[in-house]
Formats: sequence, C-alpha cells, structure tokens
Amino acid sequence: MTDFCAPDWVPALPRNAPDSIPLCDFILDEAYGRYPISKAKPPFTCGLTGKEYSILQVKDRVESLARGLARELDWNPNKGTEWAKAVCVFTLNSIDSMTVVWAVHRLSGLATPANATYTAPELVHQLKTSKAKAIFTCLPLLHVALEAADVVGLSRSRIYLIELPEACAPGLSPPKEFKTVDDLISGGLRLPVLEPVRWNKGDGKTKVALLCFSSGTSGLPKGVMISHFNVISNIIQINTYEHAGRPEEHHDSVLGVMPQSHIYALVVICHARVYVGDNVVNLPRYSMEWMLNAIQRFNISTLFIVPPIIIQMANNPKLLGKYDLSAVKSVWTGAAPLAKEVAEKLLQQHPQWKVLQGYGLTETCTLVSSSSPRDPYLGSSGSLLPGISARLVTPSNELITTYDTPGELLIKSPSNALGYFQSPTATLETFQADGYVRTGDEAVFRKSATGYDHLFIIDRIKELIKVKGHQVAPAELEALLLGHPLVSDCVVIPVADDAAGEVPKAFVVKAIANGDAESVGDAELAKLLQMHVQEKTARYKWLKGGVEFIDVVPKSPSGKILRRVLRDREREKRRVA
Ligand code: AMP
Repeated sequence: MTDFCAPDWVPALPRNAPDSIPLCDFILDEAYGRYPISKAKPPFTCGLTGKEYSILQVKDRVESLARGLARELDWNPNKGTEWAKAVCVFTLNSIDSMTVVWAVHRLSGLATPANATYTAPELVHQLKTSKAKAIFTCLPLLHVALEAADVVGLSRSRIYLIELPEACAPGLSPPKEFKTVDDLISGGLRLPVLEPVRWNKGDGKTKVALLCFSSGTSGLPKGVMISHFNVISNIIQINTYEHAGRPEEHHDSVLGVMPQSHIYALVVICHARVYVGDNVVNLPRYSMEWMLNAIQRFNISTLFIVPPIIIQMANNPKLLGKYDLSAVKSVWTGAAPLAKEVAEKLLQQHPQWKVLQGYGLTETCTLVSSSSPRDPYLGSSGSLLPGISARLVTPSNELITTYDTPGELLIKSPSNALGYFQSPTATLETFQADGYVRTGDEAVFRKSATGYDHLFIIDRIKELIKVKGHQVAPAELEALLLGHPLVSDCVVIPVADDAAGEVPKAFVVKAIANGDAESVGDAELAKLLQMHVQEKTARYKWLKGGVEFIDVVPKSPSGKILRRVLRDREREKRRVA
C-alpha cells in the first residue's frame, strides 16, 4: 500500500465533474444533478431578520445582477479572461454574497473574497494582487473599502453595497452615491438578455473561480487559484460521502456563521449544502447570542463552527440552557484542531448531539476528510473523501505505509487548486508535479473499532498560526516588526491559547545601534510593538501571545529560522506551568 483512500462503505464518485461550465450553472441549473429547485429550501435566510429568497429568485437575481454588472463594467461573458473581470467581495456574511459571486461567474469573471476584519493595508494587498476591478462591500466596512480603493486607484464608482440587517449598522443609511446590489438588479431587469457562457471542454479546469488567500507552508499570504472544476469536484465529493443514503425529502437548516471569505464557509456551507437543497441561516458575524437565537428561531439542525466556539458553548451550559436547541443534531468543526476533551465536555451536556470534524485546506479546495455518524471516532478528522489519495512522508520524503506512524500529509484530489497566483517558487513547493499537495500538517492514520482508516492531525510543521480558525502568517507580522526602527531581528510563532486555540507571540532582538531601544524599558517597548502591529492588522493577528526580547534569533547555519526551537520551548513552559 502506498496511499490511503476512502473506506469501502463510501460510494464511488457518481461521475466525472463537469469541466466546461461555471460554478454558478452547477449550483443553479438542475441539468447538473442538483436537488430539484421546486423542492429546495431557500438557499440563504438572514438569521437576524428572516429575510430570504427562494432558489428560483436567487437564480433570477444572479442573472439580472450579471446584466447590470456587464453594463456597468462593459463586460461580456465570452470576452476577456477572468483576470480582467476580478471582483473583490469584502463584506460581513450576507444572504446576497453568493448572488454576487455567481453573477461574476456568469460573466466568466473571478471572485476574490476578502476577510471582513481586514484593515485597509491588508485589503490593499489583496486588491493589488488580484487587480480587482470592483469591490462589493457593506455599510460597516465601506470606510475600509474606500481607503483601500483610494490607495490602489480604484474609482469610488466601482464600489457597490451589499445589504445587511439594520443591526449591523444601527442608525446608518447607505450614502446615495453608491449603487447597491438591488440597484444593479433592478437596472439589470430592464437590460437585454446576456449571451450564454460558451466554454470549451476543459475550460472549467483552467479558469479561476475564486482567488482565496493563504500563506501555505511559509511566507506571506498568496492568492490560491481555485478553478470552477475544483469547487464542483469538492461539492460532489462531500455529498457522495456525507449524504450517501440521505432520504430524498430530507432537508437541513444549517448555521452560516463562519466567515464567507474563508474556504470552509464558501465551499462546505454555501455551495455543498445549497446544491442538495438545504437552507443556510446566515449571521453577519459571530455572536453567541445571535447564534443561539438563530438556532432556536429557525430550528437549525446542523452547526458548522470552529473549536473556539465549541469551547465557549461547552463552558456556558447555563446560557445554552436558556434556549431551545432541541433541533440540533450535529455539530461540525474544522479549520483548526479540536481537543478530544472539549468534544467530550460538550457531549456530556448534550448527549444527543453528534460532534463531527472535517479537515481541509484552501489549497485542496476544501474538504479532504470528514467524520461520519456511521463510524464515529472522537478526536479523529474522519475518513478520506472519495476521489482522494493521501500519503504520509518522512522529513526526508520517504513514504510511510504503516498505521500510527506520523509524517507529513500529502493530498491528491480533483479539488486540489491550480497553484499560487504569480508565486512560481511557492507553487512548486506546495503543488508537487505528481499532483500531490504538501499540506504542511503532521498526521497519522489509525484504524477505528470498525476497522476503517481515520486521519488524525497531530501537529503543524508549516509556519502558519491559526487563531480561531483564521490564518496568521508569521512572515507578515515579522515583516511589520522588522519595519520598526527599534527592532533588529525577530521571529513570530504560535503559542497555545485556551480560547483562540493559538495566538501569535513575537521574539524580538532590539536594535542596539539605535540608542532609543536601550532607553525604552522592555515593558514599554513590548507595548509599542504591539500597538505597531495593531494599527496595521486585523484583530486576530494581534500579538496576544506577547513580546519577548532575546539576544539572537536561533538560525541554522544556512540562515533558516529555527522556529521549532522556540515553539518547543514555549510548549515545555506551558506543560510545566
Ligand atoms: P485554511 O487554508 O485556512 O483552511 O487552513 C488549513 C489548515 O488549517 C490546515 O493545513 C491545518 O493546519 C488546519 N486545519 C484545518 N482543519 C483542521 C482539523 N480538523 N484539525 C487540525 N487542523 C486543521
């Protein structure tokens, strides 16, 4: 055996994924096997107001919005590459976000979703890289979008507003200067019908649908080029695995609280679930109270969350007890490791719930493995999805073929992304020539009581820090710190945090040559550096793990930072404490 693959209880993939259509057609057109539109639940419902559109209405809105956009930007579905039709979606979760993404796809364009907590400089990086020609944002984020658009020279007339519930911007009304999604849709209704998308066979495999940002195994965040075919493949893989044997008429209401800019929400929730006719109850952002209210009001049966939310739930039984959560059947977690003890604590309080885990990456266009209620194994990230081959290798790249032996996980899947945009070296390192993606995660395979292979993620080899499921690239924070006059060298590593999973900690070598570094006390300098990072980055990147001063950054003879030395030291400190 060289590769691990899906267990034999998983049905084989039903057919090849279509490779000549845009993602919007796969989701909105019954010809591609989606659940019948006439019987499907409304795809997205606002968890605060209850506002929703039927799937037929969404289909019409996508078409009209595409016409409106085509007129505004002078775009045509069959002219120009997707790179000339890049649109940045920078918003809190909305029932209209996917309408925007699919309208862009209807024009053969690409969408680049940006994290809603970004500061202007972070958004500038994404706008510059993607060369986005328009931004769809929302009222609470408009000021950030405007500041970033100004820096990259994008006209204010290319900024459009996505509607959000009043609770997100109380008392504020949208400035008339900016067109809204509804303005574009009503304008589009009066415009001539768009010509159909005419793609050749295989175009869906090369055209980029989503440009999502990830730092991968090292370095700064890079644009991951995800094709239409990649997303379609993962939708089919997920539904073949998870919904095998699901009754035709069964429909879930699922929680849509994960940020729609992250691949987890985009693919696993907003695409895979809508494709099978489920209803996603959207919350603009995470709030425990909003979430519990929505679960109760909309009888949500399936929660998609991250470990820090599970921790909060497990630690607040009194608060949870105030709500009727009896509709909940399963709690899915992903994007970061879930401690077995936390899952057990929640299950003790809610023994009728199933706590399930998925594992995936932006680079694998999402789900690689998933738990299954038919073969539970607490702490595992489940079994591989159909169509996926996985390998474990030693640091010297030797194949591991035995159970319980850890190694770096490599994944081959039709959903594997095309590479990093304009980053050939990083692409070669991560997207191997033989089709495997190097995950940078250390994993083992173990057999469950029923004898099936289960994947356990046991550590992270790559630099990446995961704060509440969000990616923090140490290289980004190091570059920022090195830009400070009182810093001569530094390294940023993850340290464990009970609430967030991990938080970044900086080890800094002071710039002795600069007399100021000597005169400023350690505590004051640490504060200064923390403020320096806070001014320029989203909150989840802040140095919550603190700043520690060291004489020299540990490096190998070739100059490579030995992060592991500091990481192990921090782990040992925590273990002893
Ligand atoms: P992202 O591209 O932001 O989804 O981050 C992918 C990374 O998140 C993976 O390479 C893992 O390091 C981590 N991750 C995702 N799911 C899990 C999981 N179930 N358990 C442990 N780590 C995970």
